Amino acid sequence: MFKTEKKKLNKFLSLFCPTYLTDHVTDVTLDFLTTNKKSVLLLDVDSTIAGWNDSLPVKEIQDWILNLSKNGILVYLVSNTHRAGRLQNIASELGIRYVRGLIKPFTYMHDQVLCQTGKNRDDCIMIGDQLLTDILSSNRFGIDSIWVKPLPAGEFIGTKCSRVIESFLVKIFKNNQVY
Ligand SMILES: [Mg+2]
Repeated sequence: MFKTEKKKLNKFLSLFCPTYLTDHVTDVTLDFLTTNKKSVLLLDVDSTIAGWNDSLPVKEIQDWILNLSKNGILVYLVSNTHRAGRLQNIASELGIRYVRGLIKPFTYMHDQVLCQTGKNRDDCIMIGDQLLTDILSSNRFGIDSIWVKPLPAGEFIGTKCSRVIESFLVKIFKNNQVY
C-alpha cells in the first residue's frame, strides 16, 4: 500500500489523485483500517470487487468483506449500476448495505452513507478502480480513498475511454513524483 504525495499537485489535479494505491482490494487489511481510524468502508463494485458479468465476488473477496464486517467495519457497496437487482443480491449475500445513485463524480451516495451511519468524513475511506469516478467523488466529498487495479474482465466503452484519461493522469502523477 503506497501513500501518495498529493500535495505536490495543483488543486485541480489533486482532485483525481487517490490518498493510497495498491493492486487489489484484499491488500486493505483490518489492521490498516483500524490503525488509520477508518470505521466506514465505501466499496465500488464493478471491476473492484467483482467482474462486470460476475453475479458475486470471488470467495477470497467475499471472505475479506465478511472479515471486515465481522470486526466492526461498516462496509457499504457504492454503485451507480443500472442493474439494481444484482447490486441488491451481492449486498444481501454478504450481509452488508448498499447505496445506489447518481454517477459518481457526484457525491450523493457518499452523503447517504454519512447520513445512514452518523459518522464523520474522517471515519470513511473509499476503495475503487477509477480515478474519474471513485477517486474524484471521494476527493470532492472530502474523504480518503484507495485506488486499486481493475479486476481482469470486460469493461463498458465509457470506462475504456476513461482509462485513456487515467493513463494521462498517471503520467502527470509520476512526473510530479506523487508516487
Ligand atoms: Mg468500478
